[in-house]
Amino acid sequence: MSSVAFEIVCSSCGSLVYAGYDLRYVRDVLKPNAGKCKGCGSKLSQSDFIVEIKKAAS
Ligand SMILES: [Zn+2]
Repeated sequence: MSSVAFEIVCSSCGSLVYAGYDLRYVRDVLKPNAGKCKGCGSKLSQSDFIVEIKKAAS
């Protein structure tokens, strides 16, 4: 529909950790939380992320 969006979902509890348009911000999103999920407190690492990339069909 619109532009490319990323969604990062906690692999433990399924909470949406980040949703936005720039994957570079992922580190900045996690930094204040010490890399932990806000929902369940699980430690997140980039390899644990479930990243859904939604692209608009152009
Ligand atoms: Zn979680």
